Amino acid sequence: MPNLTTLGANDLRAVHEDIRRRYQAFAERKLKLNLTRGKPSSKQLDLSNELLGLPGADYMAGGVDTRNYGELQGLPELRAQLAPIFGVSPDRVILGDNASLSLMHDAVVYSMLKGTVDSDKPWSRESRVAFICPVPGYDRHFSICAQFGIEMIPVPMLETGPDMDAVEKLVAADPQIKGMWCVPKYSNPCGTVYSNETVERLAKMKTAARDFRLFWDNAYAVHHLTAEAVEIANIDELCARHGHPNRAFIFGSTSKITFAGAGVALFASSKDNSAWYLKNMSIRTIGGDKVNQLRHIRLLNSNGGVAALMDRHRASLAPKFEQVLNTFDKELAASGVAKWTRPKGGYFISLEVLDGCAKRVVQLAKEAGVELTPAGATHPLGKDPHDRFIRIAPSFPELAEVTEAVQGVAVCVLLAATEKLLQSHAS
Ligand code: PMP
Repeated sequence: MPNLTTLGANDLRAVHEDIRRRYQAFAERKLKLNLTRGKPSSKQLDLSNELLGLPGADYMAGGVDTRNYGELQGLPELRAQLAPIFGVSPDRVILGDNASLSLMHDAVVYSMLKGTVDSDKPWSRESRVAFICPVPGYDRHFSICAQFGIEMIPVPMLETGPDMDAVEKLVAADPQIKGMWCVPKYSNPCGTVYSNETVERLAKMKTAARDFRLFWDNAYAVHHLTAEAVEIANIDELCARHGHPNRAFIFGSTSKITFAGAGVALFASSKDNSAWYLKNMSIRTIGGDKVNQLRHIRLLNSNGGVAALMDRHRASLAPKFEQVLNTFDKELAASGVAKWTRPKGGYFISLEVLDGCAKRVVQLAKEAGVELTPAGATHPLGKDPHDRFIRIAPSFPELAEVTEAVQGVAVCVLLAATEKLLQSHAS
């Protein structure tokens, strides 16, 4: 494939015709493939099938009858097992039910309706509430903001994490900026790992709002795709060291460690924030699902623990990511019309196409039988101003399906690009 951006009109037309034929041939196969959501595959879920038989008749956990109400904060043993993954002490960990997204939602709602421990008044009584949203980012974070009327201020993601020069300027100047979404490791969708410097600057920066919070969604803390177990700086320690102990709300879950729909979620923060969370939570529930917590303790204590389990996930996931990257390298690298991330972990690859082409690529793919995440989903209110980013999620389909789907996507990228380039030649 030649570099399409440097071709003259005649050569471009010839290449376009060739790509159009390839697209048609692909579409005629009438495949039904799906690269939309970052769901684990059935084979990955099978890795934790032992859970289905646990905890069995032995439902006691260190003197606690897991069948009954109580232990609002969650079973101490599971808190102790999960705390090191998130770099906090177990006494400040609170276990939720199956979804960390619910805990993020609740943390926003509690802040809106009651205010945080550092707020003068509930956020809902402010004239305006804004969150910084690194883009591309996770659509469900943006949906929470949209749901509660929180203004979203996009900041570009760099290779080191969010553009910190921009972030520091914004939060220093605007007291209505109350929060910021962060997926610090193997981010959704770029796979970016925040550098130590970025994490330190986030912990240290001066914010005009005294009750500013980092919504630290460490969803992919142990989700490595290579032999390197990437580590990031400890946000909890750094916030405390820089005099902002209450700044970070940390979230995580076992959704992509055990069962995506039946794992255990976690909130962790400073002593005061954890007490605040627990107090609000005590109105909402008498206690979480301790039977699920107990079966997680038993599962995660067996067969080599979390690290060994994550190695087994990696064995299933890494070949799919390799397949996507190899196909893009082969089909698109020379074309000059796309670039993509090479994540060392997480669940996504971010594909960047020519400006104004992302929606068209997704449409072409759909018409040819490949479902992609809607273009724009990576940006607040679904609006990618340059119509450039597409999220690729290869985890769920079988490897053979990923291979076919991504070949189709590559052809769609080339077709949309040649259409666009021919238009600009014509105008
Ligand atoms: N945060 C991020 C960044 C995610 O990508 C996902 C899953 N797609 C979640 C949170 C959801 O996690 P949970 O299942 O714990 O709600």
